[in-house]
Amino acid sequence: MTFVVHYAELGIKGNNRDFFEEKLVSNIKTQLKGLKAGAVMRSTGMVRVEAGEADPIEVLKRLKMVAGAATISPATRLELDADLITKEAVRLFVSKKGSFRVTVRRPNKRFLTTSQDLAAAVGAAILDANPDLHVDLNTPNHVCWIEITDHGAYVSDEKVKAAGGLPLGTGGKLVSLLSGGIDSPVASWMMARRGAPLHYVHFHNFPYTDRASIDIVKDLARVLNRTAIRATLSLINLTPIQEEIAAVCNPQYRVILYRRMMFRIAERIALREDAGGLVTGESLGQVASQTVENMRTIEAVTVIPVLRPLIGMDKEEIMARARQIGTYELSILPHSDCCSLFMPPNPATKSLETLVAEDEKKLDVEKLIEAVLKEEERLDMKDVSW
Ligand code: ATP
Ligand code: MG
Repeated sequence: MTFVVHYAELGIKGNNRDFFEEKLVSNIKTQLKGLKAGAVMRSTGMVRVEAGEADPIEVLKRLKMVAGAATISPATRLELDADLITKEAVRLFVSKKGSFRVTVRRPNKRFLTTSQDLAAAVGAAILDANPDLHVDLNTPNHVCWIEITDHGAYVSDEKVKAAGGLPLGTGGKLVSLLSGGIDSPVASWMMARRGAPLHYVHFHNFPYTDRASIDIVKDLARVLNRTAIRATLSLINLTPIQEEIAAVCNPQYRVILYRRMMFRIAERIALREDAGGLVTGESLGQVASQTVENMRTIEAVTVIPVLRPLIGMDKEEIMARARQIGTYELSILPHSDCCSLFMPPNPATKSLETLVAEDEKKLDVEKLIEAVLKEEERLDMKDVSW
């Protein structure tokens, strides 16, 4: 069995296209490691993956998560011979019902039959063999996909939707603030899907909270590695900073002050890791603290861009995505949230940057950041959990 992988992004041409396809091929190879799959090779406008000795179901499951793969067709590879192609198409369609269409792509122009002629001939043969089918070019129940490439023809009756986006590594690195919640894993995945390698930063409150929260974050990173191959993770103990804020600052600003410190630390890590921006799982208005004014007050302390891929999404959509990428079950496990430490009953929902900045003057920001960064644990998350 061969899988034909197509990508969707338009306008990828010339050198860019080579770079893009090479990344896609090498990322696919990484994800199939250990499965005894066969060759992964570029072909004009597609990548073909031989299942080899691997379980095709497992291969398909992994391919679907690779960033840059838009659709995947399980196909049979044949000699470039119109009769063989027609026979295989008939075999696939002989017991189907309803309507169908034949779609041919022919990057190999040395095969002389045009796409249209081949589609017409194959369509006629299918109709001959199966009177239960009729042709519908616009909204068919089934499609017969035929690819005429330099190294053979592929015939398939299926096109499975995959992750889409751009291959990991075609974009610049980002630092993603990863909590154990539902949102930030989805935000991380969305950026990895746009080609950005990730370095995660997780803030914890050990020993106020146990290591279980940290283990959840590591497990989330392993699941996200299905797309965000070999991400790295920094664990930062925020407790000393939170204790200091709780001791000296206005309780109304506590969340914002915690988060300003998180952003500052994440930005320092980003500079060190050669990352060009931060990623958070914030969604406008989802919780009382996620107002535009709060966001402005928090990001005022950093210079690099803060990307919020979930900003306009509804919770339902985010949850559906979390289920699809496999992080939901981990994110709903009980875990502590570092922002809830020392919280007053009514956190401020509105903030003025000047008021907060004034209050923050009670802190020795530099000294606090240096101290927690000294205790940073930096991990290479090589494993992927499937
Ligand atoms: P999530 O579901 O991602 O935890 P949330 O709905 O709990 O988000 P907030 O607590 O306001 O929302 O956090 C907003 C964002 O800030 C998170 O999506 C995440 O990117 C970042 N963040 C919050 N807490 C932490 C943490 N302990 N470590 C790292 N990042 C964090
Ligand atoms: Mg959270």
